[in-house]
Parts: sequence; structure tokens; C-alpha cells
Amino acid sequence: MKLQGKIAVVTGAGQGIGRGIAEIFAEQGADLILNDVVPSKGLEELGDWIRGKGRRAVTVLGDVSLRSDVEQIFDRGWADLGPVDILVNNAGIETIIPFLDLTDEQWQKVMDTNLKSQWMSCQSFCKRVIADSRKASIVNIGSIQAARVLPGRTHYAPSKLAVEALTRNISAEMGSHGIRVNCVHPGLIDTPMISWVLESPNLRSQVVGQISLGRPGLPREIGSVVAFLASEEAAYVTGQSLFADGGWVGK
Ligand code: NDP
Repeated sequence: MKLQGKIAVVTGAGQGIGRGIAEIFAEQGADLILNDVVPSKGLEELGDWIRGKGRRAVTVLGDVSLRSDVEQIFDRGWADLGPVDILVNNAGIETIIPFLDLTDEQWQKVMDTNLKSQWMSCQSFCKRVIADSRKASIVNIGSIQAARVLPGRTHYAPSKLAVEALTRNISAEMGSHGIRVNCVHPGLIDTPMISWVLESPNLRSQVVGQISLGRPGLPREIGSVVAFLASEEAAYVTGQSLFADGGWVGK
């Protein structure tokens, strides 16, 4: 098991990709701090599922776009489970708004949730890891939209492309502390975020037609990639961004 004995924080874990990552991590031997923004049946049920696998799990509500909530997630993690080894910045939101209609508030909300949150949690996490004199690994979740244009995403796409630069720059400063930082750009993944695409036969076939493997991905398929990057198997990999997109960006 590639994550045996590791302790990991996964943000936005109540559903979708975050849940897929948490499931794979637990199966690979990790204990989990599970975050989401509002109380949900999904988050509590995931905690029970992980404990059923013999791993420890705690749930922490918090909005990752707020500094105080980010600190609280790590406070709880360190207090309840011990020094955290892995951070997965997964929480994110997507809205679709034509460029000419986009307001300052809509721009800021997406930037704060998708980008500022990752910067803040990377910083808070790294300070704690350095204070503990331990090694650690971070995986930031970006998006295929770092490299592909979809309509109405002049706010979302830059927030995700910037995750790549954030990852590279933090990895450069943190490498000497033994902290690796990588990014995964998912393609079309079957989650509640994009159910509106998959439930429309026309939209679905239009998008799936652009994917080499000819199907949407599953949250656990992103989980496997994240687990590899977070694990010692990727001990010499840092500052990288990997597209897990079934061959969409390359087609
Ligand atoms: P979902 O909306 O299905 O799940 C995201 C989870 O994050 C939700 O539970 C959501 O809660 C939570 N969340 C939202 N805002 C916050 C916040 N401020 N603090 C803490 N938690 C929050 O999305 P996906 O699983 O599809 O997406 C996960 C990540 O993957 C996102 O960063 C997304 O941008 C990215 N991604 C997804 C793709 C896809 O095809 N699904 C493709 C490329 C990238 P709530 O529901 O209450 O808002």
C-alpha cells in the first residue's frame, strides 16, 4: 500500500473527485482529514466508509477561501490525527458566465475559491511541516481548462491555469525543505459539478467525441493519479502538472 501510515487532508471531499481521492487514499493505507464547506450526508458517510476500512477519518467543515477556516482545518488535523504528511487542494467551483456579463464579484468568488485557497493552504501547511522538520507532499487540482477553451470560463480557466504556476513556484521554494508540490489537471470527470453536461445527450456526445478514450473519467481514476504523485513512488517528481484527461488535451 503506497500511502501506509500517512495522514492526508483532502478539501472538498464531500462528493465528486474529492471523494474519489479520499477513497483511494484510504485503500492505500492513509488516515484522512476530510473537509467540505457545508454539512452534508456525503461527508459523514465517507468518514464512516473510511473507518469501516480500518483507517482513521475526521471531518472538518470550513470554507477554504477563508484564512481562518484553512487554519482550523490544519489545527484539527494535527490535533486529532497527528502531523499531516499530504495535502490535496481539491475544493473548487465552476460557474459559466459570458465574458461581457461577468461581474467583479463573480470573478473574485471563483479566484478566491479556486486559487487563493490553494495559495493559503499550501502556505499554512508548509509552515507547519517545516516546524515539524518532516517531509511532505502537496497535490493541487487544476483543470483541463488550463489548456482548453470552453465558453463562459474567462474567470474559471485563468484560476485553473494559475494553479499550474502556483504549483511550480511553491515547489521551487519548498524543495529544499523536502516538500514536493505537483498538480493534476482532470479532464471530463463524472461528478455532480458536470452532471448537466453528462445528462444532456447532445452535450455529452459533443464533449466525449473530443476525448481519445471516448468516455468521461471516474473520480477514483483521478484518485489513483493523485495517490501516485503524493506517494514515495514519485519521490523525484515535483513542480509538475499532469493531465489526467483520457487524451482530451492531446487530441
Ligand atoms: P463537485 O462540485 O462535484 O465537488 C466539489 C466539492 O468541493 C463540493 O462538495 C463543494 O461543496 C466543495 N467546495 C466548494 N467550495 C468549497 C469551499 N470554498 N471550501 C470547501 N469546499 C468547497 O466538483 P468536482 O468533484 O467535479 O471537482 C473537484 C475539483 O476538480 C474542482 O477543483 C474542480 O474545479 C476540478 N475539476 C473538475 C472537473 C470535472 O470534470 N468534474 C474537470 C476539471 C477540474 P458544495 O457542493 O457545497 O459547493
